[in-house]
Amino acid sequence: MIKRENIDMKLTPQRLAILDCLDGNTSHPSAADVFRAIALNFPTMSIATVYNTLETLKEKGVVKELGIDSDKKRFDPNPEPHHHLICLNCKEIIDVFSYFSLDLQENEKCGYEIVGNHVDFYGICPKCKEKKKLDPNIT
Ligand code: ZN
Ligand code: MN
Repeated sequence: MIKRENIDMKLTPQRLAILDCLDGNTSHPSAADVFRAIALNFPTMSIATVYNTLETLKEKGVVKELGIDSDKKRFDPNPEPHHHLICLNCKEIIDVFSYFSLDLQENEKCGYEIVGNHVDFYGICPKCKEKKKLDPNIT
């Protein structure tokens, strides 16, 4: 659940709709995805509003920006530490809540105090495997 009371910005009806769309959303939507989901109810809203709101929510730590999809920024509203399973074909992103015991050797830490890690698993999802429309350029 996104804690609205902690968000230090004026929550206009449009911004509330964006928050509603993000709350519990596990699809890691892009700004365009969020826009599509709520544009019907807010015909006067522009995609720039969605984009700017997502950027502000990112700055406030409410959503995380994912650099997984080179075509568009994707956003993750889940603050819990977790990993991702990513389809190289359709760019579906699935949350993985397994715990991995990953550690660096002392000389690899470069003096850092390690506070977390994030693992991306890449593959082809069952839907894309089924379609057999795989881009031959995908390795
Ligand atoms: Zn796929
Ligand atoms: Mn996620």
